[in-house]
Amino acid sequence: MTNTKPSLLDFTKKELQTLIKPGFRVNQIFGWLYHQYAESFDDMKNVPKALREELAEKYVVNPLTIVNKEVSTDGTIKYLLQMQDGKTMEAVWLKMKDTQLDENAEVIQEAKYTICVSTQVGCKVGCSFCLTAKGGFTRDLTAGEIVAQVVTLKCDNDHKHNRKINIVYMGMGEPLDNLDNLAKAIEIFKEDDGLCISGKRQTVSTSGLSNKIDQLGKMDLGVHIAISLHAVDDELRTELIPMNKAHNINSIIEAVKRFPIDTRKRVMFEYLVIKGKNDDLGSAKKLVKLLHGIKAKVNLIYFNPYPGTDYDRPSKEDMVTFADYLIKHGLLCTIRDSKGIDISAACGQLKEKTEGEIQ
Ligand code: SF4
Repeated sequence: MTNTKPSLLDFTKKELQTLIKPGFRVNQIFGWLYHQYAESFDDMKNVPKALREELAEKYVVNPLTIVNKEVSTDGTIKYLLQMQDGKTMEAVWLKMKDTQLDENAEVIQEAKYTICVSTQVGCKVGCSFCLTAKGGFTRDLTAGEIVAQVVTLKCDNDHKHNRKINIVYMGMGEPLDNLDNLAKAIEIFKEDDGLCISGKRQTVSTSGLSNKIDQLGKMDLGVHIAISLHAVDDELRTELIPMNKAHNINSIIEAVKRFPIDTRKRVMFEYLVIKGKNDDLGSAKKLVKLLHGIKAKVNLIYFNPYPGTDYDRPSKEDMVTFADYLIKHGLLCTIRDSKGIDISAACGQLKEKTEGEIQ
């Protein structure tokens, strides 16, 4: 498929106002895009047919199609999404909290969801534990393709536009390696008349491109940052994340200290725990030392083995011992539930499985 067109989801409201006249039509179209989750120009009933036809010649509405989806018993839904050029990537719908009912079965708090979004097809970083890395890098996603993941998943789950949602840029790709499109998508998500997802509900997770952490900080988008640390010494970190040679642990820690952080918030350090590699008390001790003086939160994540990987899942006992050590030494620490463990839980697994079936 080669005949691709820009999507209306690629543009901020201000940009759309320069492309579409008269201006009030942009308000209507914005509503169709972000409140009604329109899939085609034909859905936009209050927009004149002539304008719809004119727009359809130059643009598409949503550039994504759902190719496959897997639903876990824990409420996680993993999507494989196809773009106009036939390339695919994954996005994940995560249920973080169940709906809470009172004694009369009235809803007192609605379920809370997070969407895990991809920013590239493939990835250049080449982490040794990552299935996405095995396929190499194909291309950056456009801002519209990033935005469309959230629109598509909210629509598919009948999640109203004004219901709160969190976004984590933790799917396929290194978000900071596609910084311009990422920053634009963040701005589009924040639009008051659109999805109105504030920066504080958006977390950019990076494998540690220290110079780009600084650039993101200077953009002052109000987002949170999460660092995929995974190791406490450069030798192991370089084995796990080869670009650690260029952006070592010290350079990342220094960049984090310069990043503008909401005083009420903490920087999340993701630590993928791999059996026999980084799950020992010596590593926990070094981690405490490394994060000393940073308002940090450590998120311990079980490694989810996938066919062909050399790494193993740590035992629950070792995980708890590791977490206890961090907590006893003053670090805020959580053990992340392995969401969607009964489906293709590892990043890139659904893509590989589906493409294997198609070939
Ligand atoms: S873990 Fe993330 S940064 Fe590392 S190769 Fe995979 S997608 Fe890229």
